[in-house]
Amino acid sequence: MFVPTRQPTVPVRVRGVTVGGNAPVVVQSMTNTDTADAEATATQVAELYRAGSELVRVTVNTQEAAAAVPELRQRLSDQGLDVPLIGDFHYNGHLLLRKFPRCAEALDKYRINPGNVGKGANHDQNFATMIQVAIEHQKPVRIGVNAGSLDPELLSALMETNAKASVPQPAQAVFLEAMVQSALRSAAAAEELGLRRDQIILSCKISRVQELVRVYRALADRTDHALHLGLTEAGMGMKGTVSSAAGLAVLLQQGIGDTIRVSLTPDPGSSRTVEVRVAQQVLQSMDIRPFLPQVTACPGCGRTTSSYFQVLSQEVERFLHARMPEWRRVKPQAASLQVAVMGCVVNGPGESKAAHIGISLPGTGEAPRAPVYEDGVQVTTLEGPNLAADFLRRIEAYVARMP
Ligand code: SF4
Repeated sequence: MFVPTRQPTVPVRVRGVTVGGNAPVVVQSMTNTDTADAEATATQVAELYRAGSELVRVTVNTQEAAAAVPELRQRLSDQGLDVPLIGDFHYNGHLLLRKFPRCAEALDKYRINPGNVGKGANHDQNFATMIQVAIEHQKPVRIGVNAGSLDPELLSALMETNAKASVPQPAQAVFLEAMVQSALRSAAAAEELGLRRDQIILSCKISRVQELVRVYRALADRTDHALHLGLTEAGMGMKGTVSSAAGLAVLLQQGIGDTIRVSLTPDPGSSRTVEVRVAQQVLQSMDIRPFLPQVTACPGCGRTTSSYFQVLSQEVERFLHARMPEWRRVKPQAASLQVAVMGCVVNGPGESKAAHIGISLPGTGEAPRAPVYEDGVQVTTLEGPNLAADFLRRIEAYVARMP
C-alpha cells in the first residue's frame, strides 16, 4: 500500500468512524431521496452503506425532513445498520436544529455551508445557533464552503481590497482565496463559540479540477483541520468519473484529504452506489486502501483471435465482486488480491507472473492453451470448454490459502 506523507490533521470521530489523523481515508456519499420519506431514504442509505459508504449524508431542508430523521435512524437500527448519518443544512439549519432536537440528536454530524446561513448580523447569529446545537449534542460539524454558494459579503470585501492593491490579483485568485478564508474564518468562529478542534472538518468544493487542486493546497497549508475532499458537481458518466479521479488523485498523492466523496450525477435509473464504487476505486488504484480484488487485463489488439479474453475478464470481475462479501468476513486480505487476464504471449506471462494469480490466453498463431501463474510460477495450463470455470476455481483456492 502507498502511504502518502499526510498533512497532520486533527482526527474527528463521527459515530464509530475516525476522519483525519492517521485514519484511513474515509469514503462517503449522499442520498438523493426526499428525507421526509423516511422509508425511501432508509432504503437508499442502507444501499450506500452496504456498498461501502462509511458515512452517509442526507439533506435536511424542511420541517418534514427534520421530523423524519429520528424515524430514518430507527429504520436503520432495525436493520442492524450503525450508519453514521450527516445532516446537510442550508438557509434554515438554525431553525430546524433548534425546533427538532430529536433530529439534532439522531444525526452524527452537521454540514454547515457558511455561504447559506443568512446575511449580515443574521449570518453570525444563525451560524452561532448551529454551533451551539452541535456543542449541546456533542456532534462534529463540517464547515462546507462551496464555490456555487460562497459568502457574497466576504467575497466582495476581498474584491474591494484587491482592487485597491498596488498589484491586484486576478479575480479568480481572489475568489479561491475567499473560499479558503470563508472556511478558516468559520472554523475560528466555531472554536471561539466553544466547539472543539476535534469536532471540525473543512471542505472547499469547486467543480473545476485545477481550481480544486489550488484551493485545497492553500487550505492544507493553512490549517490542520481534517479535510473533506471532493470535486463538486462533477457531472455524469465518464466526464464526472474521470474529472473526480483526476482532482482527487493529485491531492491524495500529496497527503491532502481525510474523507472523499465523488459527486456524480447518476444516469437515469442507475444506482446511487456508483459514486461509492468510484471513490473506492480511486483509493484502490492509488494503493491507498484496498476494497476489492483488482483485475489487470490487457486492452486487446490484432494479436487476439477473438473477444474471449474480454469475456473472461468480465467473468472474473463478476466472480470477484460476488465473492468479496463472503471473503470480507472470512478472508479480508482478499481485498488486496491482484488477478491478471491477458490476451497473448507478448505481455501475458509477464503480467500474470506479476499478479498473485494470472492467466495468459493464446493469441493469434499460439497453441490453444493458457498457462496459469501463481506467485510468479507457472502452476498449470488450462484449455477446453471448462477453462473459465477452472480458472475461477483456482482463484477461490488461492484466496483460501492467503495468509
Ligand atoms: S498482451 Fe498481447 S493481446 Fe494483449 S494487448 Fe498486448 S500484445 Fe495485444
